[in-house]
Amino acid sequence: MIRIKFFGVRGSLPISGDAYCRYGGKTTCLQIILENGHSMIIDAGTGIVDLGDQIINKTDPLYLYFTHFHWDHIQGLPFFKPLYIPNQDIHFIADHPKGWENNIISQMNGQQFPVKFDHLPSKCTFHQLNSQSRPLPSTLRIDTVPANHPGGYTVYKLTLDQKSIAICTDNELLSTESSARSVSDFAKVFKQCDLLIHDCQYLPEEIQEKSGWGHSDYRSVCDLAAMANIKQLVLTHHDPCRTDQDIDEMRERINFYIKEKSYSFSITMAYEGLSLHVV
Ligand SMILES: [Zn+2]
Ligand SMILES: [Zn+2]
Repeated sequence: MIRIKFFGVRGSLPISGDAYCRYGGKTTCLQIILENGHSMIIDAGTGIVDLGDQIINKTDPLYLYFTHFHWDHIQGLPFFKPLYIPNQDIHFIADHPKGWENNIISQMNGQQFPVKFDHLPSKCTFHQLNSQSRPLPSTLRIDTVPANHPGGYTVYKLTLDQKSIAICTDNELLSTESSARSVSDFAKVFKQCDLLIHDCQYLPEEIQEKSGWGHSDYRSVCDLAAMANIKQLVLTHHDPCRTDQDIDEMRERINFYIKEKSYSFSITMAYEGLSLHVV
């Protein structure tokens, strides 16, 4: 069994206020929990602050996997309390070109944040995911593929006991870049996944104006899910301008689109506190 908990589902910028409290305003952070007690954290948007508060009394090593290093995926890290626990083992893991560590270290350089990374009392270690060492001690299989996103993005496909989930929070399915993967390329990657967590920042009428920004509209994501024969689609990375009511309306439009196309997967609009199981 794989359990997924959502601590941050907002894209680009954290947001607060009455109009945003149902889906939540914190940026991307997920926790993947396995039956054997092992867990992995995906990304360190502002959602990671709440996650840190929940695990503060545990001393198990922490495994933090990064999809990429845009602000909305790392800006919660300086406020992640386990960083300040003496000798707490924290493993930072990514499948990015060499030098990605600096994206983590440089935001705690004394200029942008008062505490320097070098002065942290925890034991922080960096791992290249494709190296010989396997950071997370588990039978979980971790496959990675790149997505269409400025600066690069790592999709994580996790498989355990023939169940698979894919995490792709930032991806421009309709990218016009010459090196971009097409919707059908991604359908091959996600084929038969039990659960796909995918970027759905924009409405179809917004996507042309946002071309090159690295995100998708609901129509292309639903077409992908149908092509890949996904069982459950979770839509995330909500635009910071989108209120709870706007997201509800988007869901209505998506339901209409799915019905019109006779697609058979279920959809969930991700919200803070959402917890899902893949059994
Ligand atoms: Zn993002
Ligand atoms: Zn991004």
